[in-house]
Amino acid sequence: MNIHEYQGKSILKSFGVGIQEGIVADTPEQAVTAAKELNKQTGTDWFVVKAQIHAGGRGKGGGVKLAKNLDEVKTISGNILGMNLVTPQTGPEGKHVNRVLIAQDVYYPGASPTKEFYVSVLLDRQSGRNIIMYSTEGGMDIEAVAEKTPHLIFKEEIDPKVGLQAFQSRKIAFNLGLSGTAFKQMVKFITSLYTAYDSIDASLFEINPVLKTSDDKIIAVDAKVNFDENGLFRHPDFLAMRDVREEDATEVEAGEHNLNYVKIDGNGGCMVNGAGLAMATMDIIKLAGGEPANFLDVGGTANAARVEQAFRIILKDPHVKAILVNIFGGIVRCDRVAQGIVDAYKNIGQIPVPIIVRLQGTNAVEAKKIIDDSGLKVFSAIQLKEAADLVNEVLSK
Ligand code: GDP
Ligand code: MN
Repeated sequence: MNIHEYQGKSILKSFGVGIQEGIVADTPEQAVTAAKELNKQTGTDWFVVKAQIHAGGRGKGGGVKLAKNLDEVKTISGNILGMNLVTPQTGPEGKHVNRVLIAQDVYYPGASPTKEFYVSVLLDRQSGRNIIMYSTEGGMDIEAVAEKTPHLIFKEEIDPKVGLQAFQSRKIAFNLGLSGTAFKQMVKFITSLYTAYDSIDASLFEINPVLKTSDDKIIAVDAKVNFDENGLFRHPDFLAMRDVREEDATEVEAGEHNLNYVKIDGNGGCMVNGAGLAMATMDIIKLAGGEPANFLDVGGTANAARVEQAFRIILKDPHVKAILVNIFGGIVRCDRVAQGIVDAYKNIGQIPVPIIVRLQGTNAVEAKKIIDDSGLKVFSAIQLKEAADLVNEVLSK
């Protein structure tokens, strides 16, 4: 689960991580009130208006703007609120901005120059350990840094038995070229950031930029926080931070029916029981020359009601040209599933695309007969290869 920048920052702050302070607003009037309050709290006269959407690259898309007085706060917030923000991460359709963060300007000049860094904490699947990834090249596109100058990205691996060690935080501050107060501040920043990550069942913290201010403070200017969904039941307060408006509507609906659905940009819909089989099915669709339109695991109880719901979800995507149903009957009996498909077909009425069904396992032969006898526009295939060839046939028409 993703959350907004302002929510991520509030979590960081609660763990003692330095942040760029801010207050959220839903209207230009609220933005002005927020700016006045922020002026009282921090003394800042300049503000940054930041669109709150679940996507990065907001700066590039015009979703982060500096305001040098209250009038500008009002006009800029008015422009950003309600806008359809397109960034390199939103896709061409963009995202609607419902809320802005009015933040203190932290780039003001002073005794020493400001400097932007990159710091993230994440699980490295190769080593099976948490790592802190960091770079002197913060603020800009970290993907471009990784591609063009990978030697400028450092990684620090954390031993789960002993946790982050003090020498590791110092090594990071040193490698970032810091000294004096800024060095000490960075050590504290890294230590508290890691504690936060480790305490809340997060799967990713990405802070870009981490800023060294002109008075040598180290603060998070941005915050991307992802949670491990399997741990969320332990954190009802974080679960409450979910903003479904930011999520794909079909995925949200599928979740309400306990269907594990992820939309992808293809034309071959698929309905499968089991996540591993679902992945393999997507591979098969690709191999047959199509592009999978979704991942969908209907789970262990592939009964008629779930099959029908799954069809309805898949069919919400107008790009779907064919649906491959791939069910392995272990505990679930294939003939039951087959009957479920036939019933779902009738209940939904007109399913506008061909359905290729592959049922294997308990009562597969009986299942094929039910499908074949149904008189519906359903192809049946017992072998996966046959199913894949059928998919290829209909997709290439
Ligand atoms: P992103 O574009 O979605 O990653 O949003 P960020 O929160 O990282 O902000 C984008 C950029 O806005 C940063 O890299 C900064 O260059 C700029 N920015 C953020 N806060 C301030 C600020 O307080 N003052 C100024 N002048 N620029 C800021
Ligand atoms: Mn950023």
